[in-house]
Amino acid sequence: MTAQAVQQEDLAVVIGLEVHVQLETDTKIFCGCSTDVADAKPNSHTCPVCLGLPGALPVLNEAAVESAVEVGKAIDADVPEETTFHRKNYFYPDLPKGFQITQYDAPICQDGELAVEVGGQRRSVGIRRAHLEEDPGSLQHAGGSIDSADYTLIDYNRAGVPLMEIVTEPDFRDADEVRAFLAKLEEVLEYLGVFDSGRDGSLRIDANLSVIDAGEIGDDGEISEEALDAANRTEVKNISSHKGAQKALAYEATRQKNAVQRGREVEQETRHWDESRGITVSMRSKEAEKDYRYFREADLPPLQVSDWKERLEIPELPDARRERFREEYGLSAEAASKLTSTRQVADFYEDVASEYDPDLAATWVADNLLGELNYRDKAITDVADRLDEFTRLVELVASGEITTKNAEETVLREMLDESEDPETIIEREGLGKADEGEVEGAVTDAIEENPDAVEDYHAGEDGALNFLVGQVMAKTGGSADPGSVNGLLRDRLDE
Ligand code: ADP
Ligand code: MG
Ligand code: ZN
Repeated sequence: MTAQAVQQEDLAVVIGLEVHVQLETDTKIFCGCSTDVADAKPNSHTCPVCLGLPGALPVLNEAAVESAVEVGKAIDADVPEETTFHRKNYFYPDLPKGFQITQYDAPICQDGELAVEVGGQRRSVGIRRAHLEEDPGSLQHAGGSIDSADYTLIDYNRAGVPLMEIVTEPDFRDADEVRAFLAKLEEVLEYLGVFDSGRDGSLRIDANLSVIDAGEIGDDGEISEEALDAANRTEVKNISSHKGAQKALAYEATRQKNAVQRGREVEQETRHWDESRGITVSMRSKEAEKDYRYFREADLPPLQVSDWKERLEIPELPDARRERFREEYGLSAEAASKLTSTRQVADFYEDVASEYDPDLAATWVADNLLGELNYRDKAITDVADRLDEFTRLVELVASGEITTKNAEETVLREMLDESEDPETIIEREGLGKADEGEVEGAVTDAIEENPDAVEDYHAGEDGALNFLVGQVMAKTGGSADPGSVNGLLRDRLDE
């Protein structure tokens, strides 16, 4: 962009992402070490392969490749006839071999897309490529920051954990679109069962951002290759959350716009997102591809994967499931969206809906269960082994054994707080529905004790019956069914 005074509105932001996600496999990508490293002692999950000892040879983990092909199917990508691995060379102590095994010119997925919804608009984000690679180890700088640390500790437990790097086209125009994309990507990956967003470090984002002349954007929203290449962009590293991405990109957009407005050139460089200070800082001028001296990984033969795409099945994806829930169960858009928020929720809803009424199931799963879980900062996965107890509670309501009010306000809450089953709570709290004799007795008492209300009822006053129903409910401790109390009272008063 030429160095002359420019207005803010003349500038447009362009963003492209490189998202690293950890694939959920039991073992690492090139050795048999366990990936379950969360609470492990440093360097306890290592072997000659992931420590890069001379002579150790990598063996490709089939489960990681399967996950990658499943991701390819989900994002509608091309999976090539043959995929190969390369060595990306750079020196840094988190990389014991001095190179990272990754993919280069024959990535396992190419030319995919993911549809996202932003501000009610549906947009497709292009996925340029998605490839497999190994994670490096982790460095711990004693004293905090890399410049002031006295020494650095290294833990190779993460070294060799399988990652997929998903590279988008520069299709984002603001940070909100990026957030919507990240949420959608995680949702799809979790539906596939290849990713766990709750795992520490499972998502890391490098975000590329440039500022261009708004006139370069065509009517169709497209930007020419030339304009994209001509723009100086920064790559912001070290972003590890959706919120972090939004903040880092908002900061970077403002920084670059200000520079352009003052007639300064934006430097093409790598910047570091400093989460605690909320700013991006210059790290180094960006590496060029030649710095990495890519060459074929001779220890891993080319892999024929073209028929894997047909062989591997993927589950119904969130958008399709949302659509089907609306049609099949007549749910509102909002309910369908809540009930498909994770595959576990959707599966559970369908279990309950097939047994009882879809509307009753929707109320119980979306409003009651998810609402109470959310209030306790929990997810359905936290009660995964107790879902049958919850189904029994819905059954108790459906069959009229307890009232909806008691089920919602007492039984469900105690189930979650005390980890008890519904029958135990109902027994202890005496919440079973009152027997007929008890209700009839309460009806008789209510009529005898409230002659004024009876008189009002006969005079045609609307509120009188409700008042009497309330009296009966109070006498039975809320265990009677308000509908049948209403009927009983009418019968007796109209005799
Ligand atoms: P490199 O080889 O330097 O890593 P790539 O062409 O592979 O660059 O692109 C890396 C990322 O940069 C991609 O996510 C891409 O969408 C993004 N990108 C490309 N051009 C631009 C641009 N002008 N502004 C912002 N991001 C861009
Ligand atoms: Mg790159
Ligand atoms: Zn190992």
